[in-house]
Amino acid sequence: MMARVRGVHTGPEIVVRRLLYSLGYRYRLYAGELPGRPDIVFRSRRKVIFVNGCFWHRHSCRRGRPPKSNRKFWVPKLRNNRRRDLLNLRKLKKLGWSTLVIWECGLKKPERVERELRKYLANSN
Ligand SMILES: [Zn+2]
Repeated sequence: MMARVRGVHTGPEIVVRRLLYSLGYRYRLYAGELPGRPDIVFRSRRKVIFVNGCFWHRHSCRRGRPPKSNRKFWVPKLRNNRRRDLLNLRKLKKLGWSTLVIWECGLKKPERVERELRKYLANSN
């Protein structure tokens, strides 16, 4: 699973960035000062986007399952990742930011993600 090789420049973040760009949105990358270091930041709208890999962020999909081997290592590690993600989303909310999480597996249907992005960025809240 981890050994599966990805094409060059086809990482999920890049796919989302291209989509945003094609929709005409401009944003900042990697706001290190915000909880969880969101991947994409729309400062004036106070909106952030996380592009999450299903494995590392423990998505509920098939790809989000921990590996069968070495479970003593993976299960708590991935559970902690998930816990930290949720905590960061809460912190952002408290600071007045809206958040959107795009999952890697969802990018198989880019038109759906595009709709989601449009909707998220169009709403003022
Ligand atoms: Zn997933």
